[in-house]
Amino acid sequence: MLSKVLLSILIVSILFTSPFKTFANEEDMDEAAVAAEQKEEALLAQKREELYRRMETLTHIPWYYIAAMDRYEKNIQRKSKEKNEFQNDRVTAITISPQVWSGGFNPIEDDTNPSAIGIFHGIGRDGNGDGLAERNNDEDVLYSIAEFIAQYGTTEKDVRIALWNYYLRNQTVKVISEFATIINQYNRTYFAGDSFPIPRGYNYTYHNTWGDPRGWGGRRIHEGTDIFAGYGTPVRASRWGIIEIKGWNPYGGWRMGVRDLDNIYHYYAHLSSFNKKLKVGDIVEPGTVIGYVGSSGYGKPGTSGKFPPHLHYGMYRDNGRTEWSFDPYPSLKRWERAEYAKKKKKK
Ligand SMILES: [Zn+2]
Repeated sequence: MLSKVLLSILIVSILFTSPFKTFANEEDMDEAAVAAEQKEEALLAQKREELYRRMETLTHIPWYYIAAMDRYEKNIQRKSKEKNEFQNDRVTAITISPQVWSGGFNPIEDDTNPSAIGIFHGIGRDGNGDGLAERNNDEDVLYSIAEFIAQYGTTEKDVRIALWNYYLRNQTVKVISEFATIINQYNRTYFAGDSFPIPRGYNYTYHNTWGDPRGWGGRRIHEGTDIFAGYGTPVRASRWGIIEIKGWNPYGGWRMGVRDLDNIYHYYAHLSSFNKKLKVGDIVEPGTVIGYVGSSGYGKPGTSGKFPPHLHYGMYRDNGRTEWSFDPYPSLKRWERAEYAKKKKKK
């Protein structure tokens, strides 16, 4: 029986990796892979949402805060193999440390006995009613964290205070609150799609310039990709996110900073002007016009024309402790390709 199952898995995987299964071109293959991945992600998101909403019923903690926290932790842990192995069959990502779960003075590191955990002031609870408080069970973990938050109250302000006491980091509370705002606004957790920053029909050109030395403002490396385009060319948000910064800075000129739902910060600089309707705290969708290409920067507010007009596009990742720049070029290429694949389909 088992060998039959293994054999069919083998056949299926051969079918899917066979060099004979060819796509018309790379774009079609990309599109098919992306579609399959999106479908799977959407199903998983639905499963998770059911859990978050159940926790809201039990604890009165707004479900979108639990969802936002889960989303934040998923991103932080993206590269940690150890945690992924521990999580095994879990669909949610929130991970509570053994000390916090079982209680600091509890001699049993991964205690599952709710009353013993209670004695040692651990936060582990039994959320699925099986009598055990298991640190790698979705319902137990979500219920435990929701109950922890509920000690502080159930208003948004209370929740943010609880989050600060849990993470002890302002940036984390801010990001989770931003995620919560978007999830609550759209009443869902699944957000797909992206846009190349320059709309179709406009001329532009860009090369991989990340890491190049740059001329102004001392010895810094170029933390982004420059997309050259004419003055006034619209600049669009590439992903779902929230505007964190809008205004002037000496290097970037008129610039906007948007944090997306993967906790990546997108930095748009040297704009000639902004979309006047947008302000800090507003939500943007892929394709939302945020401003227009210019050559502002390298001086006092209003300085312009010291270099040819271009969009400086930067991307920064947060690992829960610090934020750093990474090369946006591959993402830009991917969004651009997807955009032109869409165009071909419409024809
Ligand atoms: Zn640049």
